[in-house]
Amino acid sequence: MLDADFFRRWMTAATALVDREAERLTALDSPIGDADHGSNLQRGFTAVAATLEKEAPGTPGAVLTLAGRQLISTVGGASGPLYGTLLRRTGKALGDAAEVSAEQLAEALRTGVDAVRALGGAQPGDKTMVDALVPAVDALAESFAAARTAADEGARATTPLQARKGRASYLGERSIGHQDPGATSAALLFAALEEAAGE
Ligand code: ADP
Ligand code: MG
Repeated sequence: MLDADFFRRWMTAATALVDREAERLTALDSPIGDADHGSNLQRGFTAVAATLEKEAPGTPGAVLTLAGRQLISTVGGASGPLYGTLLRRTGKALGDAAEVSAEQLAEALRTGVDAVRALGGAQPGDKTMVDALVPAVDALAESFAAARTAADEGARATTPLQARKGRASYLGERSIGHQDPGATSAALLFAALEEAAGE
């Protein structure tokens, strides 16, 4: 079973990975965006880590809801509301249980990803974070490691796609040949989840 501590470890690991990969995320956001994705997420997750330490929420749902709210209020740009919605809706779906199973987490994350799709209007194949989130959640039924691999593959598979949502879509065909920054950071979220699970 996964308790609040597990979810705090997940967010701490995500913060560390975003810190480590911030420059790369911003570099990916240069040719097809406005070169701020790394700094956006760094600001957001730094705030998440600080708030979780200060408020010490006691349930899995409360950890994710609080983290999502922080992302929405601190990250400018498209990715803040989208990631914020992902975590907030996943947290809400977990309710106020003190511990949840991996299956419950997979189900809740599915709700969160559906909310991201509803908010942003992106389908798989539109070259967005959805291209990593959807296969990751599908693979979560198998294991945390499988979810991480699926997210990595989904992120890499955005390279040949033409963007149909977000800033990159303004470039039309010129968005082809670049990996999507948001799909890349979504894969980091699942790498952090695998780390938290100690797999
Ligand atoms: P901005 O584009 O406002 O500068 P970021 O650079 O932080 O915001 O995030 C860009 C990422 O957000 C993109 O790489 C893409 O994955 C994701 N994104 C943008 N618009 C959408 C959308 N409508 N649906 C899903 N993801 C999106
Ligand atoms: Mg950007």
